Amino acid sequence: MTAKRRLKGRKTDVGPLEYVEFGLARLKARGFRITKGRRLVLDVLGRADRPLSPYTMHDLLSGRGESVDTVSIYRTLETLEEHGLAHRVAFSGGYLPCRLEDHPGCHHHLICRACGRVDEVDCPGMHHVEEGAARDSHYLIERHLVEFVGLCPTCR
Ligand SMILES: [Zn+2]
Ligand SMILES: [Zn+2]
Ligand SMILES: [Zn+2]
Repeated sequence: MTAKRRLKGRKTDVGPLEYVEFGLARLKARGFRITKGRRLVLDVLGRADRPLSPYTMHDLLSGRGESVDTVSIYRTLETLEEHGLAHRVAFSGGYLPCRLEDHPGCHHHLICRACGRVDEVDCPGMHHVEEGAARDSHYLIERHLVEFVGLCPTCR
């Protein structure tokens, strides 16, 4: 239930199990071994309804009788992020599963400052801003960080 999120017209209601299967398939296709640790991290992440820190994930796993050290969790999260399976939310420093994996391009988060709810949107328009900034500044821009903070439909 917690993994179900709907943004208008977008397929974002991927359940935790589908997320784990999809994530494992992608990692395998890209040459990664499927370790127990990676599977557990995907499982915990797939159920997250709030951004989770590696420490919180460690505690959740310990509560289930699984011991995965925080360094391994952190490295797995970095791998998942590199391969488009997870996102780090700068606002809190925690990680969330990507729920828009069928949308190419970059994804950003909407964060409710009152209740902590986080939703994900893609942002085709942001590329024009990035191109404009690169043109005007002569920077070689590699990425951008955008988060929208405010009040969710329930809290506003
Ligand atoms: Zn995403
Ligand atoms: Zn973007
Ligand atoms: Zn809220």
